[in-house]
Amino acid sequence: SIPLSYFAGIGGAARRRVLVKGANYLDTLNDLHTLVLDKTGTLTCGVFAVHRVAPAPGWSREALLETAAHAESSSSHPIAVSVRAAWGGAIQVDRVTEVREESGHGITARVDGRMVLVGSERLMQRAGIPCQSCPHPGSVVHIAAGGRYAGWLVVSDRVRTEAAMALQRLRRLGIRRIAMLTGDTDAAAREIAGQLGIEEIYSQLLPEDKVAITEDLQRQLPPGGRLGFVGDGINDAPVLMRADVGMAMGGLGSDAAIEAADVVLMDDSLLRVPAALEAAGRTRRIVR
Ligand code: ADP
Ligand code: MG
Repeated sequence: SIPLSYFAGIGGAARRRVLVKGANYLDTLNDLHTLVLDKTGTLTCGVFAVHRVAPAPGWSREALLETAAHAESSSSHPIAVSVRAAWGGAIQVDRVTEVREESGHGITARVDGRMVLVGSERLMQRAGIPCQSCPHPGSVVHIAAGGRYAGWLVVSDRVRTEAAMALQRLRRLGIRRIAMLTGDTDAAAREIAGQLGIEEIYSQLLPEDKVAITEDLQRQLPPGGRLGFVGDGINDAPVLMRADVGMAMGGLGSDAAIEAADVVLMDDSLLRVPAALEAAGRTRRIVR
């Protein structure tokens, strides 16, 4: 049977706006040694702005944004939202067909009859389209149309205002190892990690790489130590499931993430993570 204090623990967490899906996760939270966080939407706000538009010869800024925005018309990825906002015009859905979105890569779609690619350098390389490598601190989004390079955009996101405070409290609560995972470029990852004092970063990851790294970090845990993951759920449901305790942003997160998570942070604040640990710590004191 489940000790009554666990119900109190789950209730205590709920009062701190943390939904814990089972009493066993309170124990896991108490034994947390390593915390892995996703970058986009978790450590950052997940709201990108387009800072630079660099059309290739033959392209205007306007035409490049219009094409990219149409290719991205059906995507809910934060980069897609920013590209549509930067263009600002109304999307004509009948101009877009054959849309394919690949997590960690980007979008392939037919716009006005031409195949358009919007995404990472890797997406371009895979299609055999040479692109300029640009060492920008933001995230670089490349665009190609009709098999030819069309230009790039720089988008960037902001660190959540509460992120530094949340990490500081987590370290004080005994978290020994903090790592950041991202599908984004190394430059973008360093920019964010630098602002937060995170030294361990893994960048340019595909969703399956995120799982592999999480498993690797799990193997490195000391005896009895557990690993937690915090994500917003856009492409990170597999890691949420793999971690000993998967925590998802409840407001911003996708339904799939909320389902895959063991702990849901109800108002999207990273401060809910130390709050969850505190609630779990109280339970242990009562049980003993
Ligand atoms: P993160 O791990 O930071 O949450 P993602 O895995 O969602 O990032 O995306 C990784 C990279 O893949 C992005 O930085 C971008 O280069 C590319 N990408 C993914 N989806 C899109 C999209 N819809 N439009 C443009 N680029 C995308
Ligand atoms: Mg993400």
